[in-house]
Amino acid sequence: MIEVSILRRVIIEMDISNIRKNEPLSKHSTFGVGGLAKYFFEASDIDDVPEIIAWVESQGMRYFVMGIGSNILFKDSGFDGLVVKITAKKISAEGDTVIADAGAPIAAVAKFACDNDRGGMEEFISLPGTVGGAVYGNAGCFWKEVSDVLTRGWVLKDGKLTEVDSDYFKFKYRWSALKDSHEILLKAAFRTEGGCEKSRMKDVLAVRREKQPWGKTAGCFFKNPGSTPELSAGFLIDKCGLKGKTVGGAKISMKHANFILNTGDATASDILELADMAKKAVKGQFNIDLDPEIQIIG
Ligand SMILES: Cc1cc2nc3c(=O)[nH]c(=O)nc-3n(C[C@H](O)[C@H](O)[C@H](O)COP(=O)(O)OP(=O)(O)OC[C@H]3O[C@@H](n4cnc5c(N)ncnc54)[C@H](O)[C@@H]3O)c2cc1C
Repeated sequence: MIEVSILRRVIIEMDISNIRKNEPLSKHSTFGVGGLAKYFFEASDIDDVPEIIAWVESQGMRYFVMGIGSNILFKDSGFDGLVVKITAKKISAEGDTVIADAGAPIAAVAKFACDNDRGGMEEFISLPGTVGGAVYGNAGCFWKEVSDVLTRGWVLKDGKLTEVDSDYFKFKYRWSALKDSHEILLKAAFRTEGGCEKSRMKDVLAVRREKQPWGKTAGCFFKNPGSTPELSAGFLIDKCGLKGKTVGGAKISMKHANFILNTGDATASDILELADMAKKAVKGQFNIDLDPEIQIIG
């Protein structure tokens, strides 16, 4: 009864009618696994975010903000609070700068820049996920990271949209200060340069197709413990003979050993058990600790 009244109040007080209850999180992660979110809200307008966060904080309820879930493993137990999925995706140009809402796919930002004959973001055409997820984890591919092109961001600070410069994020390998501060990114601005290299876009997409598996996955499960090929997590897991290893419906990809796939009916527990097996094998054989790149939520 209490839960129903909370839901009714948020709908009445905020006139937000698209809060869903008991939403399967498997529908919102590229792994395709996870239990139910008690409440689930899609923010299709950036202005909705401060409002819903102020409300959820006033209720003392847990919340979690996400993009498209391409770097998340939701546990089978689900999330006992409100999940806010940012789907606001406006993109615009201001001179050399492209400004995008947190929910815009980073690949769409790269395409937008290219369509306006601006380059510098070509590699991101192949990167799954949103601007918010990419800034949060300083995503990168083909020797280009978000930190190379981000000039400004707008974060939610004390309930207000606050502009910050790139230093604010203290970017490192697959890390930004948002991981410590738990602040929400609402928009970001990226530097572009003259002339889009369309051939570069084609090349990176071709390499992805050749080297990485498609299917239900969240990309690389572990961070690379070093920067040489011999210290990549995929190489180390492969050397432990684990390519093709399965637990339930979870499988270590034959193509890239740092990718775990949901072959159809995996649970989050299957994936976690398989990842733990890989972690222990690498520790046993190489005395190297692998840390997850993906966020485990629940
Ligand atoms: C096939 C495949 C290949 C991939 N290849 C790469 C790769 O080459 N390089 C790479 O870096 N990653 C790669 N990834 C991982 C993933 O694409 C990136 O991490 C991506 O940036 C995640 O974006 P997302 O919108 O899906 O974020 P989500 O998975 O939804 O969220 C990830 C984290 O970001 C946080 N977050 C999301 N939005 C916001 C926001 N607005 N404000 C604050 N925090 C936020 C969430 O709370 C969560 O902790 C790959 C994934 C797949 C499936």
